[in-house]
Amino acid sequence: MTTGFVHTTAPSRIVFGAGTLETVPQEVTRLGRERVLVLASPELAEAGDRIEKALGPLAVARFDGAAMHTPVPVTDEAAELLRAVSADCVVAVGGGSTTGLAKALAARTGIDQVVVPTTYAGSEVTPVLGETADGVKTTRSSPDILPETVVYDVELSAGLPVPVAVTSAVNALAHAVEALYSPDANPAIDALALDAIRRLATGLRRLGDGTDDLATRSELLQGAWLAGTCLGAVGMSLHHKLCHTLGGSFDLPHAPTHTVVLPHAMAYNAAAAPAAMARVAEALGVADAPSGVYDLVVRAGGPTALGDLGLAESDIAVAAGIAVEKPYPNPAELTRDGIEGLLRDAWAGQRPR
Ligand code: NAD
Repeated sequence: MTTGFVHTTAPSRIVFGAGTLETVPQEVTRLGRERVLVLASPELAEAGDRIEKALGPLAVARFDGAAMHTPVPVTDEAAELLRAVSADCVVAVGGGSTTGLAKALAARTGIDQVVVPTTYAGSEVTPVLGETADGVKTTRSSPDILPETVVYDVELSAGLPVPVAVTSAVNALAHAVEALYSPDANPAIDALALDAIRRLATGLRRLGDGTDDLATRSELLQGAWLAGTCLGAVGMSLHHKLCHTLGGSFDLPHAPTHTVVLPHAMAYNAAAAPAAMARVAEALGVADAPSGVYDLVVRAGGPTALGDLGLAESDIAVAAGIAVEKPYPNPAELTRDGIEGLLRDAWAGQRPR
């Protein structure tokens, strides 16, 4: 059978290596820019200092206020600074939250972005922005939002503490898994997804075994880039929607929530997407994909129960209701009872059957 598809390659420049942080000034100059606003967060102040030093006179201001879920008041404050110093480029160092701030500024002003990711969230290679105003998170997509240049520095990424690296890597794994059963799936993205799964699984196993070296971090960062590219290219399904609900309505932490939910969302979809699951299982080197992902999380020391992340048992039914409010494409039919069962298993931390 021939399956039709449409595939657009996103026009971003990727610089990958160890010590690449030092190339940020060249990347800014390459874009024809000369007045940089450096974006960071309090946890990454040291990395912000290193980038500011490397940029020298190209850096004209610094903003360390990036926060989770890209709150609009924070973007307002950064935008005011950007205007006051007449910046023509932002350089963002940090996880998805700092990347979100850079994207929000680009969405408003069209300013060029150089992003230096320190987690595996993958936002740096997607044209999507999620922002929060008055407690409501909205998402939009536009070519202006996609960062022009991404500088992946394996050495810098090695500073990410192991427990955060584990959950962030499973967050990336989720992009690759859902890409394989996306309605927009195509052979190019399938190939990236499978390579991402192999690399992320290798990195997670090595972290679990205590082999935390640059080779491990390189596998994880390459896997994150490839998985993020999948996220930016094809639509996601049940797993991402559920995590969006749990993060947005119950304030659960982004990457740990992905880590707990992924094996259960896969189990829910397994019978309806047998070919995709077989490919995931093969890439992981296991017989069954959902339980294989669960075992990988356990081996790496990641969280397995939503109850441990702060979700009250009484919230399960409410979350299931929100999750089925708006229909979206998914391999298995979405039923309120089915989702409630999934969430009960995830809440208790059961291994998928
Ligand atoms: P994050 O950016 O909030 O980082 C998690 C925590 O780790 C933060 O406290 C951060 O300061 C800290 N941290 C990051 N790097 C560190 C390092 N090297 N050393 C020490 N601490 C470090 O979280 P995240 O999981 O990277 O991103 C989540 C956010 O990104 C969410 O708001 C999510 O919605 C968004 N996101 C958006 C997209 C998209 O395509 N639009 C994709 C993925 C994630």
